[in-house]
Amino acid sequence: MVENSSIRLRFAPSPTGLLHLGGLRTALYNYLYAQHFQGKFIVRFEDTDQARNFSNAEESILKALRWIGLKIDETIDTKKGNFGPYRQSDRQEIYQQHIEQLLAQKNAYRCFCTTEIIAASRTQQKIQGIKAIAYDRRCWNLTDETIAAHLQAKKVFCVRLHIPENQEIDYEDLVYGKIHFKTANIDDFVLLKTTGIPTYNFAVVIDDHLMQISHVFRGSDHISNTPKQILLYQAFQWKIPQFAHLTLIRSNVATKISKRHFVPENFLQYYIDAGYLPIALANYLALLGWNPANNQEILTMPEMIAQFAGQELNKAESQFSIHKLKWINQQHLNLLTEKRFLQLAKPFLTKIAQVQNIDQTIINPWALSVWPQIACFADLEQALQIYFQNSQLNYNSESLSLFQQNVFLLKEFRAQIKQVKTWNIESIGNVLFVVQGKSLLTKKRTFTLLRIFLTNQEKGPRLRNLINLFGQNKILAITNHWLQPQKN
Ligand code: GLU
Repeated sequence: MVENSSIRLRFAPSPTGLLHLGGLRTALYNYLYAQHFQGKFIVRFEDTDQARNFSNAEESILKALRWIGLKIDETIDTKKGNFGPYRQSDRQEIYQQHIEQLLAQKNAYRCFCTTEIIAASRTQQKIQGIKAIAYDRRCWNLTDETIAAHLQAKKVFCVRLHIPENQEIDYEDLVYGKIHFKTANIDDFVLLKTTGIPTYNFAVVIDDHLMQISHVFRGSDHISNTPKQILLYQAFQWKIPQFAHLTLIRSNVATKISKRHFVPENFLQYYIDAGYLPIALANYLALLGWNPANNQEILTMPEMIAQFAGQELNKAESQFSIHKLKWINQQHLNLLTEKRFLQLAKPFLTKIAQVQNIDQTIINPWALSVWPQIACFADLEQALQIYFQNSQLNYNSESLSLFQQNVFLLKEFRAQIKQVKTWNIESIGNVLFVVQGKSLLTKKRTFTLLRIFLTNQEKGPRLRNLINLFGQNKILAITNHWLQPQKN
């Protein structure tokens, strides 16, 4: 593959908790775009908000990204990549150097105002009826002597960007098109906090530039940060990356998917536990905000990469639908070989076999028989129940009355089953053929009735397959149970 060193995208999560589906989709889009143009995909951890950092979050985020199938070219645990460190807390010196540069250029200034002074100024502005309350810039005008004296006295300070007055900022967003801002509405925001820790808006620009990031796909909640970041690029005279702000995903369990509201269904772990295929989840998330040019719905990772060129991204919010995800998972399940299906289902099957106290080898053919019915591996437990029921099923009154009306069918079926010498799919097929012929019912009706009588369910594996897997003795035991009232 020809590499394209000018295409570099990053996913920049804050390690503040588990990765939610919205974040995962952002990562996926960055990855697909990078891969489409033979570029690089980088994961950088933005851990400047120390209070909100969460232990193991980095590890769990990387695990989630890799689980879903993303290959990370550069991050905290990859050997490759000359643009590290890939964790902001390890880049302190770099930020400091750039702060010095902005101070020297007079694009930024030290602000020695205490929280009390700032609060008082805000109150004052409110009283004056000022709507866009902002920092009043009193430290912008400090003389070099005053600054030196404050530093000498070890006064605490933060560093603010000096926003140029009355400028217009325009940029072209890949999703939203032209976006326009006026500097009049932007406060002299903080670049470096009094603790010496950089703010997100500052660190993100330094890192994106030094890591040579060409495109930034991120959540639309960052649109309002973009002009601030553009002003920083301008202050440094750096090239501005291409931005693409992604619309939010509406969850079917909470109003919007966010990591601040913990609803398990909004997080990847829920789908891993339920046994969804990574590719199905990637496929579904990709479609939440993007329409492939040919409207293909079921896509493999290489197909998504081939089609994802940053076009066809939706401006409208997308709605997460578990039904659609289930359907997509089913389509991907259908594409598996038997061997792969069993391999992937194994953790679920082992658990079921343990609970039921049976051998794993017995459960495999059963699992294959219910394959077309399940939406995800967690459904195996329910679908396999038919094999764990004993021969004395608890039919409801409706089924019992069906028995009464179809005693002939039951008797015939039992008689035919009894006569089978070689138990296999073909001989069972013959039994069903003969029984249906004699019953004078349609094939569909005959099979539905037999299915209800054998499993107490209206749906399930293919009938001949099911009968074969039950075995002759179990079928005889069940039919014996059916016909007992007649015997008495
Ligand atoms: N750390 C930011 C977040 O998690 C990244 C935003 C960005 O991609 O610039 O939202």
